[in-house]
Amino acid sequence: MDNHNTQLPHSEPTPEDVLFDAASRFAADKIAISFSGAEDVVLIDMAHKLNLDISVFSLDTGRLHPETYRFIENVRSHYGITIELLYPDADAIRDLVREKGLFSFYKDGHNECCGARKIAPLRRKLETLDAWITGQRRDQSVTRTDVPLEQLDKAFSTISHTVTKFNPLASWSSHDVWAYIRANEVPYNPLHDRGFVSIGCEPCTRAVGPHEHERAGRWWWEEATQKECGLHAQNVIKIISR
Ligand code: SF4
Repeated sequence: MDNHNTQLPHSEPTPEDVLFDAASRFAADKIAISFSGAEDVVLIDMAHKLNLDISVFSLDTGRLHPETYRFIENVRSHYGITIELLYPDADAIRDLVREKGLFSFYKDGHNECCGARKIAPLRRKLETLDAWITGQRRDQSVTRTDVPLEQLDKAFSTISHTVTKFNPLASWSSHDVWAYIRANEVPYNPLHDRGFVSIGCEPCTRAVGPHEHERAGRWWWEEATQKECGLHAQNVIKIISR
């Protein structure tokens, strides 16, 4: 197995253990990795090395950096995998832009735009799945300090359809992620070399300084406790209820 595991200071299952367990419990067409950032490619790399039959999807909001589109293509060709891109509903975007313009999130928050460009397409996708796998880490944000390795996804489960969410890298630090990327020559978004740490849509992402938290570059005009786009909405619900 890869040498990165030797530096993990915890006794909980390794990310590979979690991936293997997830793949063994759900049919191949009912589980998928959600791909956008560096952590997600680590998961893709691990699944690839384990020969796991897990599909990959990514949210194309229409507002990503050109570098991110090239990164997605690089990952697709590097691993020889299919990456399903999920798109927002054209009518919903047309109505939002016609009513509020292209940068409404700077004035009234990111929730409406994220709702149309990310959450609705993700919800449609998760209606077809029973489980998804994310690259969330506990130390990424004040909204993620309690992220478990596996959880019932309360944001996307319904009375008739349960969705399980796996977070195999929950206990990893940013250092762990980048040590793995370097050791295994995993493709990464070139924006990371220009000071970007957590990378989302172009208008809502900026580079951070050496002493800033990695999520400081996302929706920097909003409160830290609200910095989730809805993909992981139950993290915010937990913060608010405290
Ligand atoms: S991150 Fe910004 S541009 Fe992207 S969907 Fe959310 S509000 Fe819209």
